[in-house]
Amino acid sequence: MSTFLGLPTAPAGVGHLRQTEPFPRAARRALADTQLRRNLGKATGHIRAKRAAVVAELPDWEELRAAGQAIKARTMAHLDLYLDQLEAAVQARGGTVHWARDATEANAIVTRLVHHAGADEVVKVKSLATDEIGLNDALAAAGIAAYETDLAELIVQLGHDRPSHILVPAIHRNRAEIRDIFVREMGDVDPALTDDPAALAEAARRHLRRKFLSATVGISGANFAIAETGTLCVVESEGNGRMCLTLPETLITVMGIEKVIPTWADLSVFLQLLPRSSTGERMNPYTSMWTGVTPGDGPQAVHLVLLDNGRTAALADPVGREALHCIRCSACLNVCPVYERTGGHAYGSVYPGPIGAVLSPQLTGVEDNASLPYASSLCGACYEACPVKIDIPSLLVHLRARHVEERRRLVPSAEAVTMAAASWVMASPGRFAAAQATGRAGRLLSRRGAISRLPPPLAAWTGARDAPVPPAQTFRQWWASREKGNGA
Ligand code: SF4
Repeated sequence: MSTFLGLPTAPAGVGHLRQTEPFPRAARRALADTQLRRNLGKATGHIRAKRAAVVAELPDWEELRAAGQAIKARTMAHLDLYLDQLEAAVQARGGTVHWARDATEANAIVTRLVHHAGADEVVKVKSLATDEIGLNDALAAAGIAAYETDLAELIVQLGHDRPSHILVPAIHRNRAEIRDIFVREMGDVDPALTDDPAALAEAARRHLRRKFLSATVGISGANFAIAETGTLCVVESEGNGRMCLTLPETLITVMGIEKVIPTWADLSVFLQLLPRSSTGERMNPYTSMWTGVTPGDGPQAVHLVLLDNGRTAALADPVGREALHCIRCSACLNVCPVYERTGGHAYGSVYPGPIGAVLSPQLTGVEDNASLPYASSLCGACYEACPVKIDIPSLLVHLRARHVEERRRLVPSAEAVTMAAASWVMASPGRFAAAQATGRAGRLLSRRGAISRLPPPLAAWTGARDAPVPPAQTFRQWWASREKGNGA
């Protein structure tokens, strides 16, 4: 295994990062679902309007974005140092730090810790890192039940579904669908439950309260980890996270290594950027922070699992590493015209939308999520919305180039073969004239002034755009007739 910045580099292990079918095919199916498109259009439009209103309140929004960008760039440039500092600080305060190269290692560590605590069930704070590594499945295989406590994650879990949005995992569900899921799956819910939001929240609260009071192990992710003190931070809206972080005896946090930030002062920048960009709020209703173990108060066994799972491989790409600056606010999803129409499932990865299109292929290796960098019109709306100014359109182009290069190393591309054939044809006047005659036969395929379907290998062109109809007369024919008309 190679190293980078003193860290071992590892590709992603198993987990929920890889596409099982190409984006265009999955997107076509999603686009046919009119209910899904209505749900998405309504929800993203609502969040967009809220975000725009609170961002407009801050006269120094652009300066904040620039500060967030600079902090992240500095952190990535010295990631090994900040991680060492974080580890030392957590351990000095009574916590235990574990390093996981990939999903398999991270799942094994968490499973061992839960078994060691003598538990067979855990309560979970919403966490993309644990979704990424497929932790719930790994725990289930070891006989441990994991209960999601975030309302949207609970809806997804009870619906035997997959998250489709970074922040609002059940964004593809409307209230009536959620009511049906609760009545069908909760067991202890009143069958006369309505789809009133307050009634649905109350049903979830009652269902979860018993889990909070009985579970002895809590599992979380972390939005930020402060290297100088070893403090971990989770922001959330419902208070369920606060329950998971304080009630159990054992707390296990799984965190991607890119979430570390150097200082408390840096945190103040992100706590302004994140809530405005994610939920359109001035501050998060619940901001929980903990530093190691506090005797007699909260969990007495505190573990931090630092997850690589492809991140050091992304870090090794000086351009692509910018994707690691992401603070998972989801603003880029909400403004993306592609995401708004297809939803998150079409991306086939835990990280959907524009950030997923540049992050997932780097975590897995570009070949394993090859269609994602193309799932964009490059309109630039994601860049404008990103609170840490990640230039997603440029990253998409960069990853497309990497994909083409990798393909070229394996097999000559269709473009290279076409160019070689064109060179051979154009090297001979006879061959060129014959090719022109064949090309003009293409007029037979035209409909309404364009050719929308050509046979392979030219089908790749007409799969995404029309081909122009060849003229009735070639330039040579026109020139010859002109010369004749001039009496030459
Ligand atoms: S890329 Fe930027 S806008 Fe998108 S989720 Fe990450 S931080 Fe938010």
